Amino acid sequence: MSAVLVVHGGAWAIPDELAKASVEGVKSAAREGSSVLKGGGNALDAVEAAVRVMEDNTVFNAGHGATLNIDGEVELDAFIMDGRTLASGAVSSVKNITNPVSLARAVMEKTSHVMLTDRGANLFAESIGISTVPTETLVSEYERKEWELHKNYITGVKEDFGLKRAHDTVGAVAVDCAGNVACATSTGGIRNKMVGRVGDSPIIGCGGYADNLSGAVSCTGHGESILKVTLARLILSHMDQGKSAAEASELSLQNMADRVQGAGGAVVVSPSGQWAATFTTERMAWAAVEQDVLWFGLDPNVKQKEKFHQ
Ligand code: ASP
Repeated sequence: MSAVLVVHGGAWAIPDELAKASVEGVKSAAREGSSVLKGGGNALDAVEAAVRVMEDNTVFNAGHGATLNIDGEVELDAFIMDGRTLASGAVSSVKNITNPVSLARAVMEKTSHVMLTDRGANLFAESIGISTVPTETLVSEYERKEWELHKNYITGVKEDFGLKRAHDTVGAVAVDCAGNVACATSTGGIRNKMVGRVGDSPIIGCGGYADNLSGAVSCTGHGESILKVTLARLILSHMDQGKSAAEASELSLQNMADRVQGAGGAVVVSPSGQWAATFTTERMAWAAVEQDVLWFGLDPNVKQKEKFHQ
C-alpha cells in the first residue's frame, strides 16, 4: 500500500496576514514528513519530523512562536503515539525545549512512563542530553504583541473559542507502507492560560491517538472541549463502527459543538490510507501527501493540489 501523511497547523480564525505563511508552513511540514516516509522511515519517524518543522516555524503555536500564559511565559505540551504497540509519550508545561515532540518521544522510548510534566520533564530532558534554550528565544515578536493586546483571559477565550474560533496547535498523522499508523501533536496551549493549565494536546485519546487496528488522529481546537468529549478516541470509535475518516471527524466535531459548544479540527488517517482534514472553525491550515500529490487547504471545502516533489 502507499503511505499517506496529513498535517495541520491549527484550527482557528487565521487572519489574512498569516494565511500564506500558515499554508506554506504546513506544506513544508508535509513535504518533510513524506520525505521521511519515502526514504524508508516509518510512520512514527514521519510524524515527529513533520511536527518538528512546525515547532521551528514561528507562525505556529508550538515550540518557537508558542502562545504565552497569564504570566507571559511559554509552557509547552506535546504528545506522540505509535499505532503498532500503543506506546505513547507526552510532556506538559515544559519551558525551554525547542522541540517538545522529540522529548515526548524520548519519554515513550526511554522511560516506563507515558507523561512527564513541568520540572520533571525538564530534568529528564537534561538527563538524556536534550539541550535547553533560554525560554525567551521561543517567544516571537508577533506573540509578545498579541499577548500585550489581549491580557484578559476571559475575553481572549470568548474571542478565540466561540463556535467559530480556536487556535493554532500543530499535528501530524501518517500511515506507512507497512500499514503502521502514528500521530503527534504539539502546542503552546491557549494565550493567557493559568500557570500549569494542561490542555487536550498531551492527553492520550484527546489531542491524539494512534492504533493500527483503527487509525490515527491529531486534534486542534478548544482544549477543554476536546478533553470533555475525548475527541481523538471519539473519531476512531466512529471509524471502528464503519464510518469513513471524513464522516467520523464531521460527526465527532459536530458532537463537540452540540454538547459543549466547542470548535476545533482534526487530521485523520485509516490503516488502509483513507484520510481527512476537517474543522468547524473558520479556517485550518492543513496539507497531505498521498502518492505523488500534495493536497492542501485553509478555507472550508477548498482543497488544492500540486505535484509532490521533495
Ligand atoms: N488544543 C490546544 C489547547 O487547548 C489549543 C489549540 O489547538 O490551538 O491547548
